[in-house]
Amino acid sequence: MRSRIFAQPGLVLFALALLAAPAIAQEYKSGIVWPEPPVITPAPYAGPVAPPEDAIVLFDGTNLDAFHGGDAWKIEDGVAIVRGRDIVSKESFGDCHLHVEWAAPEEVKGRGQGRGNSGVFLMERYEIQILDSYQNDTYYDGQCGALYKQRPPLANACRKPGEWQTFDIFFRAPRFQDGKLVTPGYVTVLHNGVLIQNNTRIEGVTSWTDPPKYHPHPARQPLRFQNHGNPVRFRSIWVRDLMEREDANDAAVAEGPVEAPPVKD
Ligand code: MG
Repeated sequence: MRSRIFAQPGLVLFALALLAAPAIAQEYKSGIVWPEPPVITPAPYAGPVAPPEDAIVLFDGTNLDAFHGGDAWKIEDGVAIVRGRDIVSKESFGDCHLHVEWAAPEEVKGRGQGRGNSGVFLMERYEIQILDSYQNDTYYDGQCGALYKQRPPLANACRKPGEWQTFDIFFRAPRFQDGKLVTPGYVTVLHNGVLIQNNTRIEGVTSWTDPPKYHPHPARQPLRFQNHGNPVRFRSIWVRDLMEREDANDAAVAEGPVEAPPVKD
């Protein structure tokens, strides 16, 4: 006797489609109950910060030639507007000081993670979140200035949508040897001049779906700026490459003093 289910071909097709569908990605949540970062008003924007002499300028308002995919973004009146895809720096960096000036769209659209979302991915994989967190609630470890899904900012120092904002990101890259992590990465961030990440240990790749984990990678990797479907604007991006200097200092320390330091009584 035919089972009842075969009398409903639509149902059978639906069941088959479910079996054939790839697993639907599930959001990773650390389960950590973070306190809410206090909202503070930063000092007003004082105009673009000129790069120091040893900076590599990645964007000065003219073009995004320093990036793969730069053609996709719209450049208008000295501003680059996120569009269509992520952009990835042609040069690779490890330890660095990265200065970024950006603005969330003036016209407020969407909410939570859907409002003024972009991001700075150090080494293409460790995201400092860009988000319009001005009177816009979301999970704390996903708000503006969070090390995404790992650490909320120490304050919500967002300016209003449309206003220029600065990130100064001070980064020590993770070190790997023989395919193993030797030292994790650390990051310090000033948002509009306000300290919001203070030597925060990076636990691994920042991901929406997976817990943080390190996957060994080369000592230097590109910087990636995220397209999250929101027309976030950028006006200035420069970076000071500090890797060689840090490595030389570390090597000097490992070498030890060549002369014994004077004995103090
Ligand atoms: Mg983002």
